[in-house]
Amino acid sequence: MVTLEPCTMCAGALVLARVSTVVFGAWEPKTGAAGSLWDVLRDRRLNHRPEVYGGILEAETAAVLRAFFR
Ligand SMILES: [Zn+2]
Repeated sequence: MVTLEPCTMCAGALVLARVSTVVFGAWEPKTGAAGSLWDVLRDRRLNHRPEVYGGILEAETAAVLRAFFR
């Protein structure tokens, strides 16, 4: 479980490491690579695709991120 939707670099690492399931809280419309800006994790051209569950505890994780960056 991660707080924020992974970026392209993190999503690529998750695919190459063959992580089976990715669970994250808040969506990141500007840089997200799990369905927002790109969808690297479910790209059918890649030979491994993790299961993806996004937006889990979204309000709580967004609050954690806001508090950290304040
Ligand atoms: Zn990243």
